[in-house]
Amino acid sequence: MSLIRQIAKRTLTALLPRDAIVARVTSEGIALTFDDGPHPEFTPRLLDSLNTAGTTATFFVVGERAARHREILQRIADDGHEIGNHTWSHSEPRETSARKLIDEVRRTRDLIEDVTNRECHLFRPPKGELTLRKLLALRREQQTIVLWNQDTKDYRMPEASDEIVPWCRGYQPASGDIVLMHDNHPHAITAVEFLNNERSDVLSRCQSVSQLLNLSSGDRTASPKIRRTLCTGS
Ligand SMILES: [Zn+2]
Repeated sequence: MSLIRQIAKRTLTALLPRDAIVARVTSEGIALTFDDGPHPEFTPRLLDSLNTAGTTATFFVVGERAARHREILQRIADDGHEIGNHTWSHSEPRETSARKLIDEVRRTRDLIEDVTNRECHLFRPPKGELTLRKLLALRREQQTIVLWNQDTKDYRMPEASDEIVPWCRGYQPASGDIVLMHDNHPHAITAVEFLNNERSDVLSRCQSVSQLLNLSSGDRTASPKIRRTLCTGS
């Protein structure tokens, strides 16, 4: 590989996660998103909390975990939430070729569509990391890439802590926010319960990602565009 190509590749890899990719936002809403599940204990409890709060969310599931817990995947759909694709194995982005990524996306998409009988066109890359080659391949797969701009960093919190509460208390919602949490940790449950008790101003604005991005059934390949700087997470 030429020096110029090496530099260009390194630059794109460094820039894309931070300068990526959320389709156009046309509503006042915000979206709560939960990654890395389904988890056999935490995801059902989170679904209970979301039901109590009367709130819609979006779950970016890992295919191999969803395959072990198909009944939970089905319940996420039955409860009225949106499901997105977060690869099959959550493999390390820098050790995953574009071809392997697409194989994982297809395998996970097929599982989601088989279990829920719904098409799945939302994709979130592990750690929010993409290269140009992967980005173009995902476009060919008609995937809408969804990152986030509000990172609770719940994946760094000790399991027994309630560090998520100060985040929820201090959160100032802005139109189009996409909030990152993880349903393979317990903190998302605490967050939803706190928001339900203390922050009706937040929950009343929550929508699915497709609602937020105004993606209709005929508009699943909407051109992604840069909306704001996004941070990386797990
Ligand atoms: Zn993840």
